[in-house]
Amino acid sequence: MVDLQSQYAKIKDIVDPSIQEVMDNATFINGPKVHEFQKNLENYLGVKHVIPCANGTDALQIAMMGLGLQPGDEVITADFTFAATVEVIALLQLTPVLVDVDPITFNIDVAAIEKAITPKTKAIVPVHLFGLPAEMDAIMALAKAHNLYVIEDNAQAIGASYTHKDGSKTKAGAIGHVASTSFFPSKNLGCYGDGGAIFTNDDELAHTIRGIVNHGMYERYHHDVVGVNSRLDSIQAAVLDAKLPHLDTYNTARRNTAKKYNEAFKNHPNITTPTGLEANDGDDSHVFHQYTLNLKDVDRDALVAHLQSKNIPCGVYYPIPLHRQKAYTDDRYNESDFPVTNALIKSVISLPMHTELDDEQIECITSTVLSFIDSNK
Ligand SMILES: *Cc1c(COP(=O)(O)O)cnc(C)c1O
Repeated sequence: MVDLQSQYAKIKDIVDPSIQEVMDNATFINGPKVHEFQKNLENYLGVKHVIPCANGTDALQIAMMGLGLQPGDEVITADFTFAATVEVIALLQLTPVLVDVDPITFNIDVAAIEKAITPKTKAIVPVHLFGLPAEMDAIMALAKAHNLYVIEDNAQAIGASYTHKDGSKTKAGAIGHVASTSFFPSKNLGCYGDGGAIFTNDDELAHTIRGIVNHGMYERYHHDVVGVNSRLDSIQAAVLDAKLPHLDTYNTARRNTAKKYNEAFKNHPNITTPTGLEANDGDDSHVFHQYTLNLKDVDRDALVAHLQSKNIPCGVYYPIPLHRQKAYTDDRYNESDFPVTNALIKSVISLPMHTELDDEQIECITSTVLSFIDSNK
């Protein structure tokens, strides 16, 4: 699904000396590289504060701790996402409230959020799924009307921009009250281990969060709040700082691959290609962390098996809705609340997507998919 070896080979000359510098200085924790990367990412995103941490799951948890959410508070998020989002809500003894998604964008359904709001609701966590920002104008308006926090889970959409109703643009992760991201190796901006970060434009919240990531310390050995130990280590920061200048090029390569895929599958009666590449979309409106098709009248699992038999990687994100995961079932949910997610888990397939795909590989992938679908009608 990804080709990190070829990508590394092309940037080895920049990455290796950057890592070597950390080794030579032995500044493994909180070294200058971490600070440099933080500043460079703040500039890139146009956000006031980036607080690096150990991974994207911690980033979400720390964002919720920073907002002071309390046990019993309800947090609304999407049923169709990676489990980390709901996991940290549950870990903090907050109440996860899962809602359905939109069938075209795969992102959280704003009408479903509105329906799920109760007096106990304190926050909404939109996930910018597969690299496409959620409907942030509507979500922010809803949050304002109901006095809720918005925590963007930006693990899959770093570098994407959201276009507001007035035509202005903001980078995903710089719109909500706070946002989280992940630098897991296969993410659009990935390090060579685990890493993550929290973003916010709120000075006070940033201060609170900087203490939380460091054992609740604001002054050495004074522990004012219960914190965690969640740091981005300097070697990972060195990798990320070397890769950040390439992020736009990487995302453009992903979009170009998505355009070629879309072209190959265009107008096929059994295939809906992803949105985000229409003429009126900006060149960074979708950064294709995943390229995901929605199939109609196709045996998806048979297609997966066929591709695997031809050594073509593919993925099913996500095969089980969160509301049906053993850890997160809840009497409050009715199957009839999740018609879209319940359908998508059976009909989606994600094709290889990374920065190094060439035309020959794309041709091989698309022709294999098409010949399977056309010969099994
Ligand atoms: C990857 C991911 C996370 C978790 O990030 P880690 O760094 O692996 O902890 C959270 N949310 C979403 C949507 C993700 O894709």
